[in-house]
Amino acid sequence: LPPPSTSFKPKLPSSSIDPVTTTRTSFESLGLSKPLISALATINIRHPTEIQSACISPMMSGRDVIGGAKTGSGKTLAFALPIVERIARDPFGVWAVILTPTRELAYQLSEQFLVVGRPLGLTTITVVGGMDMLQQAKELETRPHVVVATPGRLCDLLRSDGMSTGKLSRVKTLVLDEADRLLTPTFAPDLAYLFAQMPTKRQTCLFTATVSEAIMNLAKRPPTSGKQPPFVYRVKSD
Ligand code: ADP
Ligand code: MG
Repeated sequence: LPPPSTSFKPKLPSSSIDPVTTTRTSFESLGLSKPLISALATINIRHPTEIQSACISPMMSGRDVIGGAKTGSGKTLAFALPIVERIARDPFGVWAVILTPTRELAYQLSEQFLVVGRPLGLTTITVVGGMDMLQQAKELETRPHVVVATPGRLCDLLRSDGMSTGKLSRVKTLVLDEADRLLTPTFAPDLAYLFAQMPTKRQTCLFTATVSEAIMNLAKRPPTSGKQPPFVYRVKSD
């Protein structure tokens, strides 16, 4: 059997691309607290990248965000840091679901969340295929702050025996990582099922390397009543 997700330690992606960091903003000025900034320093991250400078504050304020920037630009921490910061401020106020198209990406996301979040008490589970579903169901019962999942396996888990409905009814933040790859016909039925389980009042954030037409259409859609339109950050991919 593969090891349980909590002890699984894949290495961080060794990106050949140097993320462009901006020295003009600081993590402090974006509202991150000292313990989180210290956690970042231990992995030698000292200045936000552009997408991080742009997206951290709107995400922290609860606004929907669409972030488009090429691979290696630091999209993971652009959504992980505001989520972790909110956990630091209110450990019982956060439940985030992060969806991503592949198992490998899910493990990488969980690892990045834990690297910055563990010192602040973050709990997370990775719900992907190839792992024991009963074990995952048990872990989900412990109400981790962050659930990182591939859509198919999360659906299977929620539909499986013994799982009560309403499991996702407390979700505050939903992130679609690699959103362009998720918003395709392959994932459409699973996503529809998952979205229907979550409160409509939730925060929804999309991060992607390619801003497809489907994504821009979502950005242009009028917001549901009482909601601000999404904050859109977009850098043309090359
Ligand atoms: P993307 O999702 O945009 O492809 P990632 O979030 O995977 O990019 O980040 C790519 C690499 O950049 C990772 O190794 C990550 O640890 C590193 N990184 C992220 N943010 C920063 C930062 N502010 N400063 C230095 N390195 C960073
Ligand atoms: Mg990414």
